[in-house]
Amino acid sequence: MDLDKITPSNFIEDIIINDLKSGKVKSVVMRFPPEPNGRLHIGHAKAACFNFSTSKKFGGICNLRFDDTNPVKEDADFCDQILYDINWLGFTPAGVYYASDYFEYMRDCAVTLIKKGLAYVDESTPDEIRLMRGTLTEAGKNSPFRNRSVKENLLLFDKMQSGSVKDGGMVLRAKIDMASPNMNMRDPVVYRVLHTPHHRTGDKWCMYPMYDFAHPLEDAVEGITHSCCTMEFEDHRPLYDWFIDNCDTEHKPRQIEFARLSLTDTVMSKRYLKQLVDTNVVDGWDDPRMPTLSGLRRRGVPSHAIVAFCNEVGLAKSVGTVDAAQFNDCVRDELNAVAKRYMVVPDPVELDIVNLENGYKEDIEVTEGGEYVVPHPTPIDPPTSTTPVVTRNIRLTPRLYINREDFMPDPPKGYHRLVPGGLARLKNSFIVRCVGYDTDDSGKVVKIYCEKTDEVKAKGVIQWVDRDSAEDIEIRNFSAIVPDGEGDFTERINRDSLVTGTAKAEAAVKDLKAGEGVQFFRIGYFARDSKIENAFNCVVELKSTFKIK
Ligand code: ATP
Ligand code: MG
Repeated sequence: MDLDKITPSNFIEDIIINDLKSGKVKSVVMRFPPEPNGRLHIGHAKAACFNFSTSKKFGGICNLRFDDTNPVKEDADFCDQILYDINWLGFTPAGVYYASDYFEYMRDCAVTLIKKGLAYVDESTPDEIRLMRGTLTEAGKNSPFRNRSVKENLLLFDKMQSGSVKDGGMVLRAKIDMASPNMNMRDPVVYRVLHTPHHRTGDKWCMYPMYDFAHPLEDAVEGITHSCCTMEFEDHRPLYDWFIDNCDTEHKPRQIEFARLSLTDTVMSKRYLKQLVDTNVVDGWDDPRMPTLSGLRRRGVPSHAIVAFCNEVGLAKSVGTVDAAQFNDCVRDELNAVAKRYMVVPDPVELDIVNLENGYKEDIEVTEGGEYVVPHPTPIDPPTSTTPVVTRNIRLTPRLYINREDFMPDPPKGYHRLVPGGLARLKNSFIVRCVGYDTDDSGKVVKIYCEKTDEVKAKGVIQWVDRDSAEDIEIRNFSAIVPDGEGDFTERINRDSLVTGTAKAEAAVKDLKAGEGVQFFRIGYFARDSKIENAFNCVVELKSTFKIK
């Protein structure tokens, strides 16, 4: 690999190039380390995209590692979901590992620390430990148990493992510096007693390592060269390095921090998302309004759009909140290129074509792009002479529905759809002239009469659906679930973030698979819901729709 030919796209790539050039690193090994205590969200996608693509760019590898050191909140189902999501994004981990596989090694490292006089068993209560920690402006106090002998510490650490100590009865702490200006260095807890079975190790352990101790060791075991995480771990880096130095690990990984992704009009942290799930504000982790990957998938967002968005946002030390509109643009760009087009009428009014005989039937062949004869303008893979052109048929009869807003008896200036005496093209078919209409007592239009013409030019193109073969579908439109604002997020929850309606759709929507994003011509991008029968979720609106004032 000619490193001089690679253009670094962010500061971490600069570091990697330097490490490779200097020989400090032979081959790049990275990891994406989710805690299996919830489903992945789009912030995780950013971290995953970064780790998987960067390692690949430099000819290295990237592991998926479940950081499963807290059995209280984690389970196997979350592991399965996370792996599914990672594969869905298009990434194949070099290895799938679990922090819990290294519990023995971690225990041995703790023993190493004790033997070096760098860790001690503390019997203070959690409250006492908190009080002794001091504050940002005040040094902490040494625990009365801090100067126990190595021998006593080894015995008590054995006792912690034996099951005879109750939860919270003892902790193992690193012996660093209770006066350190960095609070993380004030004798942090390394192990705690916890009588909770683990989803992989069962009840083999009744003490579990803390994140700050476990993570660097996990990285060391796997030979991780660049351990990239979000900025809030910057203050933990001295501790990361302290554990690496003092546990005598063979391999010395390096932690580098980058800014986390946040989006407008949503909450991102798993903790908050879990709260939305647990309080039934949403229909599970995969509710289409959730910023989770499973929610976005159910909504119909293609994984390519998520990866494109993550690449576009890029990576830096500080990034402000990204506007959700930028994400929607990526989704729209992707769907515009790949989505099939279908005709759907959300607010139907009957239209009869009076100069076609009763019983007239025509099956119009359209390409899957949805455009008559002409394939989609910007496909991801340009069609070649051997690309099969997939087509479907659309039934046309004299008995149709069109959308109510596509006809106006008394139109304003600039209205280019159907008007009395005027012309409009029926999408994928001929041009009609409106020859009359009926209203009910309130003046509402209930039926429109048209003639088929031989005209070749009309300003407006409107969609239509055959009345007899139409499918009745439900349409689900979404708005922000937690709009931006001040105060606690639970007070900002938008209880009206889901609005449902009905529509008449061309018969072929029957064949659409759940999650497959298509364009409902002139309405928006939609995908069939995976749980609710005949319901279609709005993936994203069209860029601009002419709104009648
Ligand atoms: P959450 O706050 O949502 O629970 P977390 O950081 O606790 O997130 P982990 O499962 O520990 O979730 O994260 C796995 C990886 O994803 C970590 O390396 C973390 O830094 C990264 N990550 C989490 N959230 C974001 C985000 N919003 N943007 C970028 N990376 C993120
Ligand atoms: Mg976490």
